[in-house]
Amino acid sequence: MRRLLPRPAACLAALALPALLAAQRPGAGAAPGGRPQPPFGPAVGPLDPAPGSAASGYLEVPARGDSATRVPVTVIRGTTPGPTLALVAGTHGAEVAPIVALQRLRPMVAPAQLRGTLVLVHVANLPSYLHRTVYRGPWDQKNLNRVYPGRDDGTVSERIAAVITREVIDKCDYLVDMHAGDGNESLRPYTYWSKLGLDARVDSLALEMALAWGHDHIVIDPDRPKDRAASLYVQNTAQVRGKPAITTETGWLGVPDPEMVARNVDGAMRLLRALGMLPGPVEKVRRPVWIDRTQVVASPATGAWEPAVSRSEYVAEGTVLGRVRDLFGNVVAEVTAPFAGVVLYVIGSPAMSVGEPVAFIGRVGTGPR
Ligand SMILES: [Zn+2]
Repeated sequence: MRRLLPRPAACLAALALPALLAAQRPGAGAAPGGRPQPPFGPAVGPLDPAPGSAASGYLEVPARGDSATRVPVTVIRGTTPGPTLALVAGTHGAEVAPIVALQRLRPMVAPAQLRGTLVLVHVANLPSYLHRTVYRGPWDQKNLNRVYPGRDDGTVSERIAAVITREVIDKCDYLVDMHAGDGNESLRPYTYWSKLGLDARVDSLALEMALAWGHDHIVIDPDRPKDRAASLYVQNTAQVRGKPAITTETGWLGVPDPEMVARNVDGAMRLLRALGMLPGPVEKVRRPVWIDRTQVVASPATGAWEPAVSRSEYVAEGTVLGRVRDLFGNVVAEVTAPFAGVVLYVIGSPAMSVGEPVAFIGRVGTGPR
């Protein structure tokens, strides 16, 4: 295959992803110097299916101080060489729409049609999922999406992160960390795109992934850490290691809403086509709503939260987002919007502690181009 010349970053967004891949990745052709590429994708833990087949199993996370756990994974191997895409669900265990979506997706991707390798991490955080916790794991009270790249001698969240870093992130070429509103969050769908600034190629490809996924609201997140040893987030861990990655938010309030499950499946299929891993038309969001400033609005009091706005609602600066009542029902605080924008999520259940989020507001900006 003809290797195209690299193009300036500003032009990359105008290209379809397959064209970018031909330009940027050696996987579908000869490597620099003409050496042949390894024909097929990586083994993931114990899973190394033959070309044209799939395998499901577990990545083991051994006990150390606290209990052992494991990570359910499927590897679908295509019949022709190509990139490896990792889809990670269940980083937060109550964010279930992506978890159910990957169960639906697994039989939909025929290995005979696939180019490259698709890795499905069905539930990254099994302790959180099984114990129905929000934000943090039940045993160590740590947020799995703040402990990457993890450590093998740490607590269970850190050990899960270490296994996923080694077996999934280090082995993939592209990654999507699939979130939803947590068990208490009423969320409208959106995608995070991080312009990290370490590698223009990686940033541009990640933007193309965001447009391919299909959510029309895209949050531009410029403040993720650049330190490989303290990358904190799943997406960021991939991106600092040179793998284009996005975080998607699709679903709400701890339930697998059918429309949200379908949007997760649809996003994955759109991305597989955009990466040239499945045949079919490539679509991308044509006029996204760019969110260039966000703020998590915190509760000033402990008690019972009573929202006054809904997900996806546009609010003016000073709009009352909701009220906090004490445990006897008296209103003790009113919370207002810090600036005009869209309600990306609002807490939908009463339990509230001082300092915890009540809403996430995004300001509509002009976008990167
Ligand atoms: Zn999450």
